[in-house]
Amino acid sequence: PPAIQIAGVTVHYGRTPALVDFSLDVAAGETVALLGPSGSGKSTALKAVAGFVQPSSGRILLGGRDVTHEPPHGRGVGVVVQQYALFPHLTVAENVAFGLRARRRPRAEVSVRVRELLDMVGMAGFAGRRPRELSGGQQQRVAIARALAIRPNVLLLDEPLSALDAALRADMLAELQRLRDELPDVAILYVTHDQGEALALAGRIAVMRDARLVDVDDAQRLYRLP
Ligand code: ADP
Ligand code: ADP
Repeated sequence: PPAIQIAGVTVHYGRTPALVDFSLDVAAGETVALLGPSGSGKSTALKAVAGFVQPSSGRILLGGRDVTHEPPHGRGVGVVVQQYALFPHLTVAENVAFGLRARRRPRAEVSVRVRELLDMVGMAGFAGRRPRELSGGQQQRVAIARALAIRPNVLLLDEPLSALDAALRADMLAELQRLRDELPDVAILYVTHDQGEALALAGRIAVMRDARLVDVDDAQRLYRLP
């Protein structure tokens, strides 16, 4: 089965539908960008997969398992949101270790894994720092390391570059490409309003407008690139 199956999902905030009859599959090893203007329902679709919002109809399956009524922590997905949202009182290492500690992994295993993850995102020298001592790009790297700690099969990225300045965005985009290539079995759903980011990272692009999916195709074909 696909790593992510979103099947006919509708989400309401109060009476207003933010996502209407939305269906999309993402295979293991595939990166799909959800592209569309602000307010078109991209984050809501991602939050439905993460379990942060509950659909009023439709189903979410991860690796063939129906998780529609499971809480976020039971879904085994990694999530990175726009505003990195690290725990401010914890060090970088403690932030990255958080999910593993919550799952009661042995201390020695956690420490090895945290070192490996900080290496992967180029933050090995920062284990003892607090989030406020880091730049925005560094904080976002730590947030990515934290999301990957539990070795998720599904990685959900919601505008991870949008809080960064333009120069840093280009650097981080290259890092995300490298990271994607280092995670050949992970399904990545990447929310963005930036067509360039979508083209740089995704094999397929799903285009949203007014709470609906209006197009989904190979990135190259969608934009008729040579
Ligand atoms: P996007 O990610 O494409 O910017 P969102 O999924 O965040 O869009 O939002 C879709 C629609 O739902 C928008 O009209 C937005 O204002 C509305 N919305 C998002 N979150 C909430 C919320 N917590 N309460 C009420 N309305 C919301
Ligand atoms: P864990 O993987 O540690 O068990 P969760 O799966 O519950 O944690 O949450 C994953 C990440 O999503 C955490 O960084 C958490 O801060 C963030 N998060 C949790 N709930 C929400 C929400 N409603 N909106 C946005 N982000 C959230």
